[in-house]
Amino acid sequence: MPPTAPRLDLHLHTTHSDGSLSVREVLTRAKQAQVVALAITDHDTVSGIPEALAIGQELGIEVLPGIEISSRHREKELHILGYGFDWQEPDFLDRLKSLRAGRHDRNPQIVEKLRALGVEITYEEVRDLAGTESVGRPHIARVLMKRGYVSSAKEAFDRFLADGKAAYVPRTLPDPATAVGWIRAAGGVPVLAHPTWVRESQAGLAQLCRDLKEQGLLGVEVHYSTHRPSETSEYLTLAKSLDLIVTGGSDFHGETKPDIEVGIGRGDLKVPAALLEPLKKAAGR
Ligand code: AMP
Ligand code: ZN
Ligand code: FE
Ligand code: FE
Repeated sequence: MPPTAPRLDLHLHTTHSDGSLSVREVLTRAKQAQVVALAITDHDTVSGIPEALAIGQELGIEVLPGIEISSRHREKELHILGYGFDWQEPDFLDRLKSLRAGRHDRNPQIVEKLRALGVEITYEEVRDLAGTESVGRPHIARVLMKRGYVSSAKEAFDRFLADGKAAYVPRTLPDPATAVGWIRAAGGVPVLAHPTWVRESQAGLAQLCRDLKEQGLLGVEVHYSTHRPSETSEYLTLAKSLDLIVTGGSDFHGETKPDIEVGIGRGDLKVPAALLEPLKKAAGR
C-alpha cells in the first residue's frame, strides 16, 4: 500500500449489512490506511457498532456510531447518513427494524422475478450468504456472481437489479425529512450522502439541501470515492454557503465495489482529519 497521511473514513459497510468484510477486517484495513477516526455506516442496522467501538479501542481508532438510511425523494433514492446518535435509543431501533422488515418483503419478490427470467436462485441462498437481518441487493448480486450468472456486481445491477431493470422491485422507504427526523430524534447528525447520486442540476441540488436543512439536515458528504474534483469543490462551496457540516468517506463494500478501498477510495480520496471535531461538536460529543 502506498504511504498515506492521517485521514477519516465516515462511510463504511461491513457484513452487518451488505459489505463483504467483517468489522475487524474493515478496521484493520483502516489502520493500514492511517484512518484515525471512522464510522461504520451499515444500512438500517446498528448491530456492528458495539464490535466497532471495542475493536477501535484495541487498534487506536476513534469510532463514531453511524448508519445509512435510504429514503425516496420524487421517485428517486436519496441516502441519509447519521452520526453520533444514541445507538440504543428504543424508538430509533424500532424504526430500523421496520426498514429491515421492508427488505424481507421486497427481496423474495426480486428472487421471483429473477426465477421468471430463468435465473434459478432462492431467497434461502441469499439469506445464508448475507448472514444478517439487513439483506440488500448487493447480497443478491453476490449470489448471482457465485452461481456464475454474472461476472461482477455491476453486471448484476446493470442487467437485473438497478431501478428500471428486469428484476427491480422497490421497497417501502421513508421520505428524506422523515429519515433526517429519526436521526435527530436519536441525538445524531443527519448528512446527505454522496450528492453525486442525486443527479440534479447545481441549482436543484442547492434547493434540495436548503429544503432538507429546514427539515433538520446538518451536513453534506462532500468527499466521496467517486466524486470528481469539480464535484468535490461544488459540494464544498454549497456546504459552506448553507453552513452545513462537511463529511466524507469511501463507501467501502468489499466484493461488490472492488475498485474502492477503505480510507483511500479509488486511491485519491483523502477526508481531512480536521473534519472530525465539528462533526462531534454537532453531535454533542
Ligand atoms: P438495497 O439497499 O437493497 O436497495 O441495495 C442498494 C445498495 O446497492 C446501495 O446502497 C449500494 O450499496 C448498492 N449498489 C447500488 N448500485 C450498485 C452497483 N451498480 N454496483 C454495486 N452496488 C450497487
Ligand atoms: Zn450498501
Ligand atoms: Fe448510499
Ligand atoms: Fe453506503
